[in-house]
Amino acid sequence: MGRVLVTGAAGFIGSHLVDRLLADGREVVGVDAFTGYYSRRTKERNLESALRSDGFRLVEGDLLDLDLDGVLDGVGHVAHLAAEPGVRRSWGRNFPRYLSRNVAATERLLEAAGKAGGTKVVYASSSSVYGSDPGHPVDEGHARCPASPYALSKLAAEELVGLYGRERGVPGTVLRYFTVYGPRQRPEMALSRFLFSALRGRPVDVFGDGGQRRDMTFVADAVEATVAALEAPAGVYNVGGGTRATVDEMIQAVRKVTGATFEVRYGPEAEGDVRSTWADSGLAGRALGYTPRVGLEEGVAAQAEWASRALVAAPA
Ligand code: NAD
Repeated sequence: MGRVLVTGAAGFIGSHLVDRLLADGREVVGVDAFTGYYSRRTKERNLESALRSDGFRLVEGDLLDLDLDGVLDGVGHVAHLAAEPGVRRSWGRNFPRYLSRNVAATERLLEAAGKAGGTKVVYASSSSVYGSDPGHPVDEGHARCPASPYALSKLAAEELVGLYGRERGVPGTVLRYFTVYGPRQRPEMALSRFLFSALRGRPVDVFGDGGQRRDMTFVADAVEATVAALEAPAGVYNVGGGTRATVDEMIQAVRKVTGATFEVRYGPEAEGDVRSTWADSGLAGRALGYTPRVGLEEGVAAQAEWASRALVAAPA
């Protein structure tokens, strides 16, 4: 297998994928624009170890204006993770950013992959395309019902992957990740906020009543599914973690692994946050050999350990 292009390489999941591919001895090109969604310094730290490897080349730039023909030269597989993430911020005046970074950037990448010929594209989509689960696990055939502009932009990009597969012969796979957590998790995500607040001895702020439930996927598991998808036949796959937890249960896990005592303040729900997500990842199990391995407490402990080190490196 040739070189792998990882877009969004400096981000949370992208940087773990880069590390994992390099550990396998693969040659990796990473593209990242270091967008302002969160700090550049944090993203640079994500890539510290990759940048020491001879197998890695970082191209800093935006998918919307880079010379993608050049970037794709010699690339056999693309893991497309670059995106403007986040449900809460995707409303109103921010929406054009979601359209350009999630939809237009994906279209431009697929155009270039079509021209390059035969390049496989694995697209990082999201459980948010389903909206809330109906009280049982959802499989890939479940109706899509986005509850936020972010989710809609991810669904539009999925449709582009399908379109370029049918019309231009670009082999494309869609992975629908369910709430990914672990070391390097984005700073505005719930568990990350809870851990950093707890470790700083500050109150923990919760959007809503704490009863929202998420299918939680440890980042190393999401990365294994992504690596397998690079080689597997095209398809659409749920990637869930096999562990479900409410926000209150996440907070309990934070108390347990950090030993910290802190106040919890409940506030209004965030617009676009769904009540519950629940993956049926059986298809990924059969087609990709995917089995999530890390349970909630082990995963939260790994993230807590990373968060304490991050606080020492950059105390706030
Ligand atoms: P992240 O923000 O940490 O990483 C995304 C990276 O993409 C950032 O480093 C950003 O600078 C880069 N980027 C954005 N637009 C770009 C552009 N136009 N050109 C070049 N680089 C650009 O996010 P993450 O949490 O690692 O998410 C990775 C992918 O997985 C995203 O597509 C996201 O929608 C999807 N996803 C994440 C989760 C989760 O729980 N974290 C769940 C479902 C889906």
